[in-house]
Amino acid sequence: MRPISGLTAVAGVAGAPVAHSLSPLIHNAWLAAAGIDGVYVAFAPPKDRFAAFAEGLRGGAVRGLNVTVPFKEEALALADEATLRARRAGAANLLIFEADGRVTGDNTDGEGLLTALGAHALGVSAPAGPAVILGAGGAARGAAAALIEAGAPRVRIVNRTRARAEELAAALGGDIAVFGEGDAAAFADAGLIVNATTLGLGGGPGPSAPLAAAPASAVVMDMVYRPLRTEFLIAAEAKGLRTVDGLAMLIGQAAPSFVALFGAPPPTIDVRALCVKALEAGG
Ligand code: NAP
Repeated sequence: MRPISGLTAVAGVAGAPVAHSLSPLIHNAWLAAAGIDGVYVAFAPPKDRFAAFAEGLRGGAVRGLNVTVPFKEEALALADEATLRARRAGAANLLIFEADGRVTGDNTDGEGLLTALGAHALGVSAPAGPAVILGAGGAARGAAAALIEAGAPRVRIVNRTRARAEELAAALGGDIAVFGEGDAAAFADAGLIVNATTLGLGGGPGPSAPLAAAPASAVVMDMVYRPLRTEFLIAAEAKGLRTVDGLAMLIGQAAPSFVALFGAPPPTIDVRALCVKALEAGG
């Protein structure tokens, strides 16, 4: 145990539920390896009290917060300033509490997605062919914004509720097409297929996607990481497609968060192995 003193910097993650978040494991491992006098804890404010909770942190008693479901949109709304990528995503997964009382918002989820793709599949962050995003919620919006910014040639949204996909396409502008669930045309020349729905979370079937229609060069990514090997990724592997799991994205978003919270790059230790162990233990 590292000693906690009156000087220890405090940061954390806020969500509801948050008990199973892997972020404390990741950030505390980095803090220990870097020898930084800091601690990263999980906060579970009541669902209707997030704004009051975060407002109370103005001034920097807590240096900053990662924010997860269901508070990301509210987090953006209470930030005094927000990065372009957070505004494009319509959500903040990171709040920094400045000493002068201001709150700045950022969204590192898209960066996490691009880092994961770059490191585990493509070698570069944006696919050469169209990116097909399954889902039209907050994660899909962040992914679409990041992929457009990284230069993905086209983005296609496939969602159960078509109107929500159309709203997302209109909000982001750019070259975004909307397809119905199961429409093979969306997958024909895909460079990347990303599950940004909640399907597969906790086990069970993933999104219904005609992966057979995708070219052999397509990369398939699942944002879900509980379980790590989702049915969607197993189906993609069975078709010979390259895959990237959601844990790579989670660690990818944690790295820039760590820099913003603690002012230093994360040390190069194998936090993925720690997370895999925790997931295997049911943590
Ligand atoms: P969200 O805003 O609630 O959106 C959920 C999406 O899933 C919607 O598009 C919804 O479609 C779709 N969906 C839900 N149930 C469905 C069903 N039975 N059939 C078809 N579609 C269904 O959630 P979110 O915040 O975007 O998160 C999505 C996923 O990404 C979650 O599993 C989250 O844990 C994950 N995520 C992972 C990371 C990471 O770092 N790995 C980061 C962010 C998010 P409708 O619009 O039709 O309801």
